[in-house]
Amino acid sequence: MHRVVLARRPQGAPVDADFRYEEAAMPVPGEGEVLVKVSHMSLDPYMRGRMDDAKSYAKPVELDHTMEGGAVGEVIASNHPKYSVGDQVFGMFGWASHGCLNGRELRKLDPRLPITTALGVLGMPGFTGWYGLMEYGKPKAGETLVVAAATGPVGSMVGQMAKLLGLRVVGIAGGDDKCKMAKEKFGFDECLDHRAYADANALRAALKEVCPNGVDIYFENVAGKVLEAVLPLMNVGGRIPLCGMIAWYNAGALGGNMTGEKDNLPKMWRSILVNRLHVHGFIISDHFASFPDFLTDVAPRVAAGEIKVVEDVAQGLENAPKAFMNMLNGGNFGKQIVKI
Ligand code: NDP
Repeated sequence: MHRVVLARRPQGAPVDADFRYEEAAMPVPGEGEVLVKVSHMSLDPYMRGRMDDAKSYAKPVELDHTMEGGAVGEVIASNHPKYSVGDQVFGMFGWASHGCLNGRELRKLDPRLPITTALGVLGMPGFTGWYGLMEYGKPKAGETLVVAAATGPVGSMVGQMAKLLGLRVVGIAGGDDKCKMAKEKFGFDECLDHRAYADANALRAALKEVCPNGVDIYFENVAGKVLEAVLPLMNVGGRIPLCGMIAWYNAGALGGNMTGEKDNLPKMWRSILVNRLHVHGFIISDHFASFPDFLTDVAPRVAAGEIKVVEDVAQGLENAPKAFMNMLNGGNFGKQIVKI
């Protein structure tokens, strides 16, 4: 089997030398364990955090250990009564061609759905968008929602669900092609290219035009310039599900201070007070008890084509580091997956 390990902790943005692609011994399933041949693995922004040796909600990946991550594949040997050879499963196999986990740690997949949907729209990222919107966004028809990283699996779920619930949805994405995709494929009302605006003030002026009634929900995926632009536009009683802050992830390794940002903390904190905003940070792994409710609501919508799916599939495990670095820079069009 093959795997990609963390060779070195990145300083700022990850580079090739932080990863190593290598051969490893094929695991042998013990009692209760299942051996899986991985067909596709997921690349997610949270993996950047796992590369730093910093205190967080999850332990960092150790040096020379397999990069962490979710993946899907087919059972090739099973010592667990619930799984048979040929079953399609999801598990945290990491960046590897094969994985061996206890049956308790696996999820059997519905073979009627394309297997890759378990990594994106019907997997952890789709669930994150759905849960964060419903639980903390508290969407109401007629309200205005803003979400950045709009064409990724989290943002596109948030925007599409909000549209289905009757909200006005404004996306923010990197580049014309992504903005076009947000409107034409995912049905957003508007989408602005954050790269086209020199600073937060310019982006805010453009947002103001497309959000004439202010912003009721800002689904926070990116922070940085976008957060600074949106916050003053929030309506009284607005909600901010705080899901991610990818614009600042590479700063973690640089001591945790958000290098390069102006110190707007007092102004931002005041905005939260005077507008009585509800800001709620969440980590989706705390909420997996609601995963079946998510599948019940969303899987039929995906099957019916009501919720659209866009996936960006890189070829070959050895190319996973390149695809990961590309995604952190916004080079992915839809959910980033690697075909092993
Ligand atoms: P995406 O597939 O959307 O990929 C990340 C995207 O972030 C890029 O494509 C890029 O999109 C955007 N981006 C990168 N840098 C910047 C920047 N400086 N400013 C603005 N946008 C930037 O990722 P996901 O949908 O998987 O994840 C979206 C967010 O949700 C992430 O922050 C992630 O960490 C978070 N998340 C949080 C979870 C939780 O439990 N709280 C669980 C899952 C995800 P573009 O080119 O359009 O700008």
